[in-house]
Amino acid sequence: MPRIVDLGDSSERLRDVSLIIGEGLCSNIYVLGRRGALIVDTGVGNSLNPVWPQLHRLGVRGEDIVGVALTHAHHDHVGGVLRILERATPRVYIHRLDATYIASSLGPLLYKVDDGDIIEAGPWPLRVIWTPGHTRGSICLYSEEMRLLLSGDTVFPGGHYGRYDGETGSREDIVNSLRRLASLDVEVMLPGHGTPVLEEGWRHIRQAYLKASNYSP
Ligand SMILES: [Zn+2]
Repeated sequence: MPRIVDLGDSSERLRDVSLIIGEGLCSNIYVLGRRGALIVDTGVGNSLNPVWPQLHRLGVRGEDIVGVALTHAHHDHVGGVLRILERATPRVYIHRLDATYIASSLGPLLYKVDDGDIIEAGPWPLRVIWTPGHTRGSICLYSEEMRLLLSGDTVFPGGHYGRYDGETGSREDIVNSLRRLASLDVEVMLPGHGTPVLEEGWRHIRQAYLKASNYSP
């Protein structure tokens, strides 16, 4: 059974921000807000990760979900969007370069985004930062006001960073993306897998950038 972590228990600023931790190969699912909720990544959407039981426990119903943002089109992050669309009609945001992989399942709900776009769904606006490398159309989402970064599979805690050996991955791109992220003021980092970082997220990002840029195969 997927577990729910209420991030508001650790930090007042993160009230009504929750994490659903998936079972097996499944991304983290972040639920930002309750009425007028934005969901960031949706998990794999298989029978072990059906999404709705957890959303209902959080008090989020279909009509409450105004947006779903997908950090990239890998199936462990996007499979759950089809579950969500069974009971909700949110806008689904994904970078235009990863959109082609899921466009046919989303129809008119698809909103292609690009670097610098602002996603207004959810409790605070989030700026799209295009961070290719893990996939060509990977994005991170940033709130300057909250000093918060949703980092997808680009950066993980402890100076780890995403794999770049997939079909559309690129080592050069991920190093450039990490360099860009390292210039942001980030306290809270919410990664696509693993444990959220609630303090000094910037340290983890800089460490990842240094590691990636010094790596020689
Ligand atoms: Zn991935």
